[in-house]
Amino acid sequence: MKILLLGQDGQVGWELKRSLQCLGEIVALGRQGQGALIGDLADLSGLQRTLEVVKPDFIVNAAAYTAVDKAEADQALAFRINAEAVGILADYAASSGCWLIHYSTDYVFSGGGRAPWAEQDTVSPLNVYGRSKLEGERAIQRSGCSHLIFRTSWVYGTRGNNFAKVMLRLASERQKLQVVSDQVGAPTGAELIADVTAHALKAAATGAIDGGIYHLAAGGEVSWHGYACHVIETARALGMQLRVETVEEIPSRAYPTPAQRPLNSRMDTSRVQAALRIRLPVWQEGVDRMLTEIQGL
Ligand code: NDP
Repeated sequence: MKILLLGQDGQVGWELKRSLQCLGEIVALGRQGQGALIGDLADLSGLQRTLEVVKPDFIVNAAAYTAVDKAEADQALAFRINAEAVGILADYAASSGCWLIHYSTDYVFSGGGRAPWAEQDTVSPLNVYGRSKLEGERAIQRSGCSHLIFRTSWVYGTRGNNFAKVMLRLASERQKLQVVSDQVGAPTGAELIADVTAHALKAAATGAIDGGIYHLAAGGEVSWHGYACHVIETARALGMQLRVETVEEIPSRAYPTPAQRPLNSRMDTSRVQAALRIRLPVWQEGVDRMLTEIQGL
């Protein structure tokens, strides 16, 4: 089995390089590519050539334009990478008969209400990033290829930049932090996403899972404020020296950003758990593990 992994240097891509290792031959590319193989999703013709040379049985696409605020002023590039390039991958998968495994986001939803979003709920993204990711999903569905789309949320990893690491840096510099408390979701480890992807890929290879969209996030829920407090308390318990004394709750309107964020990022993950017969651990398990790893570095 030959697997083409795109976005190998991102949080999820890095973990996929580990979790997919034992499933077959992996051709892993970052934005820089490798020799004649193009890994830059903005280079659509180069990407097409890569597919034709590699001839994968599975394409796993962890590359994406993920700069949510920057995307507001950089719409053309966000759509090129998150939608057009994904369309190239999907069309190739449809014509060659290979599988496409792709990642999307809870930002395809409006964030209204308090109920966890299910796969079939109405989509209505609030920002350019969300719209570009939704267009990527639609390109995959239009192509008719065999696919798995994992919509995930609030991703962190030991490698890469993320909210938990920013909080740790700020907590070591400042006495007081203000963190948004009206956006609720589940921090989800890149490790967990990569491990579930490996299960899913194996299931797809043996015809044991239906293609389509699956929500994939850790269990439980928390606000960004609650997440920040947990990170700080756990880091202190692990012996990290932090200056912070107060972590104040603020509403989203007190922290304006170029891109509007959904308030409700809760995801109903029952479909993926039933399909793969897995249990998704509560978010604290992965976060505590990451903090322990960071502390040991
Ligand atoms: P990262 O930002 O950590 O990784 C994305 C990777 O894509 C980076 O290595 C980036 O490279 C690469 N990339 C960007 N532009 C290009 C390009 N033109 N060609 C090739 N590679 C490119 O994201 P995650 O690993 O966290 O995200 C994985 C998936 O999960 C994505 O589909 C994302 O949309 C989705 N997701 C992520 C969430 C999050 O909180 N991070 C939440 C919900 C969904 P470089 O570093 O050089 O820019």
